[in-house]
Amino acid sequence: MSGFNTKTPRRILVTGAAGFLGSHLCDRLLASDPDVEIVAVDSLFSGSRSNIEHLRSHPRFEFLRHDVTVPLFCEIDEIYNLACPASPVHYQFDPIHTVKTSVNGALNMLGLAKRTRAKILQTSTSEVYGDPTISPQHEGYLGNVNTMGPRACYDEGKRVAETLFYCYRNLHGVDARVVRIFNTYGPRMLPEDGRVVSNFIMQALTGQPITVYGDGSHTRSFCYVDDLLEAMTRVMDAPESDGSAVNIGNPQEITINQLASLVIELTGSRSSIVHKPLPQDDPMQRRPDISKAQALLDWKPAVDLRDGLMKTIEHFEGILMRSAQRRVA
Ligand code: NAD
Ligand code: UDP
Ligand code: UDP
Repeated sequence: MSGFNTKTPRRILVTGAAGFLGSHLCDRLLASDPDVEIVAVDSLFSGSRSNIEHLRSHPRFEFLRHDVTVPLFCEIDEIYNLACPASPVHYQFDPIHTVKTSVNGALNMLGLAKRTRAKILQTSTSEVYGDPTISPQHEGYLGNVNTMGPRACYDEGKRVAETLFYCYRNLHGVDARVVRIFNTYGPRMLPEDGRVVSNFIMQALTGQPITVYGDGSHTRSFCYVDDLLEAMTRVMDAPESDGSAVNIGNPQEITINQLASLVIELTGSRSSIVHKPLPQDDPMQRRPDISKAQALLDWKPAVDLRDGLMKTIEHFEGILMRSAQRRVA
């Protein structure tokens, strides 16, 4: 990072920077503008140093191991608030800390934005719609969330965070923006993070049975990471925002059974499919209505599911190859 410098950098704080989306976002922001400096914050709860290892000696990147539930004081121009475990396995591990991360983390980042007059973007989630009773889900749908189920720590935490963003905008004039992200996948998901894309690919590549929860007729709509980040940065960079939430995702909806078959086909795997119990409150359908994003951002996803899955499969093949080489060495 520069010391005395006559040029004014654009200093961007990325929380959750060692995670799947956060690490790609850091790469993208650094490449987009030579005047950008990144302050990357992460507690390393569900992220990995390896995701940002390649940025360690980058002159415009600094990493701070820090938990966003604790106040943070620094001088900053923009904040992308991504810190929060996203896989159900991770966010249910310590549900109270998940609530604190979403709520106290958002509060601290909003306090920081208020003090420094920084623009701030919250990564909310399709989970604010819970187990939706309409499809596709548009931003005006108020959702169907169980306050007391195993997913509540994540869903309700993210809902309160949205409320805080709304309050800081209205009460304190903070330029607070919110995106609701639908299932996103790609390289740098952790192999053991429990989400369906990483589970299915790792199982297929290692010849283990593919674990479909329930009968597999329920649906998700999967967005490739590059498409997601293109839309997210457009929301942040838009000259104006009314602060209302914007759905980002890929409306191509498939059943979990179809995803299992597709992963088997693309990996050329001989894995069988086994069915395991469907977790409580698992949403039965999910598909974004992205007409608001299309109109506001002139954006739509460009990466086909097959192409995105192939890139993700290559990532996991690389991990398996490196770990096999380490065992031999
Ligand atoms: P991830 O788990 O890979 O990354 C989250 C990062 O936040 C991790 O590096 C983790 O260590 C860090 N973190 C967690 N708690 C923290 C805390 N208290 N203080 C500091 N750092 C903390 O998940 P991801 O898929 O990259 O998701 C990033 C954000 O996007 C999350 O807020 C998530 O809710 C949101 N989101 C993601 C998806 C998706 O499909 N990937 C969908 C909806 C919303
Ligand atoms: N905060 C922070 N960094 C800052 C400014 C504030 O982490 O640069 C925290 C602050 O400690 C508080 C939260 O953000 O926990 C909300 O701050 P705000 O000023 O809005 O409220 P108050 O401190 O008056 O409760
Ligand atoms: N799922 C599955 N097998 C797995 C992991 C997940 O069938 O090994 C299902 C899960 O029950 C859910 C869907 O796939 O219906 C997506 O799960 P994920 O954890 O990726 O995301 P989320 O439930 O948060 O959308």
